[in-house]
Amino acid sequence: MKPAWDLPAPEAATHARPDAAGLGLAELKALVISLGEPAWRGAQLFEGLYRHRWARWDQFTPLSKELRTRLEASVDLCWPEIVQSQPSEDGATKHVFQLADGKQVEGVFMPYEKRVTLCLSSQVGCAMGCTFCATGQMGILRNLSAAEIVGQVVAMLNHHGHPEGVPVNLVFMGMGEPLHNLDHLMAAFAILTDPKGLAIPPRRITVSTSGLVSGIERMGAFPKRPRLALSLNATTDEQRSRIMPVNRVWNLEALASALGRFPLQSGERITLEYVLLKGITDSLEDGRRLAAFARRFPSKINLIPFNPHEGGAGAEPHGTGGSAQRVRATEGAHEGNGFEPPDEARVGALCHLLAEAGLSVSVRRSRGQDVAGACGQLVRNPRTED
Ligand code: SF4
Repeated sequence: MKPAWDLPAPEAATHARPDAAGLGLAELKALVISLGEPAWRGAQLFEGLYRHRWARWDQFTPLSKELRTRLEASVDLCWPEIVQSQPSEDGATKHVFQLADGKQVEGVFMPYEKRVTLCLSSQVGCAMGCTFCATGQMGILRNLSAAEIVGQVVAMLNHHGHPEGVPVNLVFMGMGEPLHNLDHLMAAFAILTDPKGLAIPPRRITVSTSGLVSGIERMGAFPKRPRLALSLNATTDEQRSRIMPVNRVWNLEALASALGRFPLQSGERITLEYVLLKGITDSLEDGRRLAAFARRFPSKINLIPFNPHEGGAGAEPHGTGGSAQRVRATEGAHEGNGFEPPDEARVGALCHLLAEAGLSVSVRRSRGQDVAGACGQLVRNPRTED
């Protein structure tokens, strides 16, 4: 039987009326032409939707009142809606987005001194089944559309009153395997990076994969694409296959070889996210294997010390250093008592080892953990969604 990620994920049901949210410029032009308007009105809609982030037709004041009324009557503007927001003590806010079909996904807004970072979801649930990840335990319900991906950005920036000029970083480290939804992801990427729209530079957008080699190869073929991160989390096939089933299809050798072939631009590096679990993934031998893996292509390493949380066990899914709840004590993990954070001295020793090996390494701490907003903690109860 094929693994679930080898099959296309289900898509959202199409709307009865046309929906302008998430459409590209060419589609918006076609839409206005179908309403008997000149094509250049499509550019006005594009600017309104993505530069000004207007979410209601009455905000489109450059259009005539008559046209706004017609749009209101015949075209939807269906962005995901924030239905719950939980601020964390560290300044991050976890948001729950309601989609048109009633399903929900989550994203996290993380303000820093000179930028903001938004953690986004790419699917409702996930097919990859990583044992440490709460989202993975849901299974895959469906892909998010380009509108639902872009809409998370629009909604979070509007909610927080994002001031013009503050750089925005996007990380696809929320619910879902982004490379399992590559078509919608790249459609969203085109809108997010368009200089006449949200104008987010491509280098500020990072897609984190669990190691879906077919998706890595496909994304590498795009002339303009996001940056790539890999949620590595283990340095032996035995260990990785236990916690990340995708490794049984593409093992560490296949992964390193695919990353070695990935066409990087000058100065670009692939980020390796590695969660440190005491006694499981934090040995010096792990550090040496991690160094050997990372040296095979231009890379930078983020070490993410595991942080315990509600549920007592877990690691993180897509790299920003979160932790998944209610991990079934993974075989080989501390059966029955979950995972533990590494000793600070060991974190320092591993950092030193990797730096001595000539690698770029940093230690990342998760944000938003007190509201279960760290990656891998993003899960909506599927039983309440259908
Ligand atoms: S860690 Fe990422 S890829 Fe793995 S199940 Fe969770 S969301 Fe999916």
